[in-house]
Parts: sequence; C-alpha cells; structure tokens
Amino acid sequence: MLLSEGESEVLREHVVPYRWGERSGRATVHLTNVRLVLEQPPRGRLLSSGVASTVLDLPLRNVSNASVGTVLRRARYVSLETNVGVVRLDVVDPPKFLAAFTAVRAGVRHPASPAPAPATLTIERHVVKVRCRHCGTLSDERHTRCESCGAPL
Ligand SMILES: [Zn+2]
Repeated sequence: MLLSEGESEVLREHVVPYRWGERSGRATVHLTNVRLVLEQPPRGRLLSSGVASTVLDLPLRNVSNASVGTVLRRARYVSLETNVGVVRLDVVDPPKFLAAFTAVRAGVRHPASPAPAPATLTIERHVVKVRCRHCGTLSDERHTRCESCGAPL
C-alpha cells in the first residue's frame, strides 16, 4: 500500500476476515491517519506478481459510526458504518482497534475546517484616478485617454 504525503500507518492487522455488503473474504487491514484500506494478499502462483489487490480504500471522514460487535457476549468484530455500507472486520482485539480508530479519526481534519493561513506579504498600491472633463468617468491616471469616451485626459 502506498502512503500519500503526510499519511502514516497507525495500525495494521494481517489477513483478518471481513464482510462488506455482498463481499467477504480475508484481507489485511491498514489504518492510517486519514483512511482505512483493505488489501487482499496476492493469490495463486500463476498470477503471483506480489502485488496485493485493494478491496476497499475508505477515507476516515466517510465513516459515520464505529462500534464493537459481540458474539455470545464476547467482543468479536468491529463494525463501521460508511458511505458505502457497513464494513465488518473480525480483528483480533476489537476494543483496541476501535480505540485506535476513534483516536485517529478525532484527528482527521475536516475538509471544511480552515487550513493554517500562510504568511502573506501584502503590497499596497494606490491608484490615482482622474475625472474626465467630458463625461465625468474616473480613469486610471496612467491612461492618456478616458476609459469611457476616449477624450484626452
Ligand atoms: Zn470621458
């Protein structure tokens, strides 16, 4: 999996069972500071290029809710409500995964939140306007003719 600039992997869990809508299987779960990625390991010798295939690449801001699911009163999986449906991950330690997920998601910068303002240098320039004697329009003093009627200024 390629990380983009400013992205760092927070948690990785190898080949855990997952279910996402109609899809299910085993995949490696990558949690970074901005997204959740499911990757299936390369399958078979014939097509073995060593390249994992991406099952799901989900920005964390697209997850509306995350919870731990229990089976027979034991924490067994993490359930994520997302914009593409519910994703269930049978991670080894669901509470630990949820805690990591919650912590990292709290740090996600919402796209609407303002980025720190860069230092700016403001150069002020005063433009002097002169009034046309014929039509009264204000023109830039650097012009030799009225911007409106063309009379000499
Ligand atoms: Zn004029």
